[in-house]
Amino acid sequence: MAFGVRFMSKNIGLDLGTANVAISIAGQGVALREPAMVAVKVEPRREVVAVGEDAKTMLGRTPEAIRAVRPMNEGVIADFDAAQLMIKYLLQKANDFSVPIFKPRVVVCVPYSITPVERRAVLEAVRNAGARSVHIVVEPMAAAIGAGLPVGDAKGCMVVDIGGGTSEIAVISMNGIVTAGSVRCGGQKMDEAIINYLRNEYNLLVGERTAEEVKIGIGSAISTRRRESAQVHGRDLITGLPHTVAITNEQITEALHEPLSVIVNALRNCLENTPPEIAADIMESGIYLTGGGALLSGMDILVANATGMPVVLSEQPLDCVALGAGILAADVPRLKVITSQAEDWK
Ligand code: ADP
Ligand code: MG
Repeated sequence: MAFGVRFMSKNIGLDLGTANVAISIAGQGVALREPAMVAVKVEPRREVVAVGEDAKTMLGRTPEAIRAVRPMNEGVIADFDAAQLMIKYLLQKANDFSVPIFKPRVVVCVPYSITPVERRAVLEAVRNAGARSVHIVVEPMAAAIGAGLPVGDAKGCMVVDIGGGTSEIAVISMNGIVTAGSVRCGGQKMDEAIINYLRNEYNLLVGERTAEEVKIGIGSAISTRRRESAQVHGRDLITGLPHTVAITNEQITEALHEPLSVIVNALRNCLENTPPEIAADIMESGIYLTGGGALLSGMDILVANATGMPVVLSEQPLDCVALGAGILAADVPRLKVITSQAEDWK
């Protein structure tokens, strides 16, 4: 019996990101993080060939009959069937709950600016994947909890989650959102900016995987004295042949300027709407950065320069949202407080 009870109490945090899906099991930490991607065979009928990491390797390399699909776009479900399959597959991979009694309670995170229709789609997709119960929490709240911020205190704290499709900003106090902002701009817009830069400057066409590799490899949010360069392989748009160019970190910083200023402006707006007492608290505790975009070199300095506030890079930026959701899944009273607060401002 004790065996059954232990399994029944499994609670899960699900971060359904645009770039990555992360799943945490309460008390155990992050069990899985994989690219939010599905490879589907279209002919003769729609059939899933690979999910997650396996599907990402296929991106841009698939034969015509197989398509690599991103079920999530800008933080919301873009392809419902693919999303549902992906959620089901990854939940099962993280924790086998095919036996009904092991069905977990799932806390799933959504962007702050999600519409009621988009919200319902997430609820339905997770329910159909076999969850016992599903609760929705906004991403920046989960990110703050996962980063270890004292969100229940009467003091204010601030978190910026820079994901693949969206960046979420929130000022939190007493388990509620005081001010928040959400822009549909994140890591993918940065990759696109690099693709456009290479096309405009060198007539070089590169795919999104290559652009992301360059960004992670030598990208920086601010200019530095460090000099680095990378060889970028692509296709010459004039000759149509494979071509390689050398690009420097300075050039990538220039290319990233526009998407980064969208994020920084949203952050400034949010601070402008923050009550002065709470702004003073944040001045003390610092702005916490989470999400994969926080790992961009110099991101913390960019935010510090733009706001004049201290900035803290959270310890596991890619895992904060899933960890926070997992903590809430295991703490129903706190989950209730947070979701009921959420109803007030929805
Ligand atoms: P989401 O929550 O939308 O799935 P994540 O928080 O998982 O997004 O972050 C994914 C994004 O972070 C991707 O766009 C990826 O390119 C970017 N990223 C990951 N690591 C780094 C890094 N070291 N430098 C810059 N960007 C990074
Ligand atoms: Mg995210």
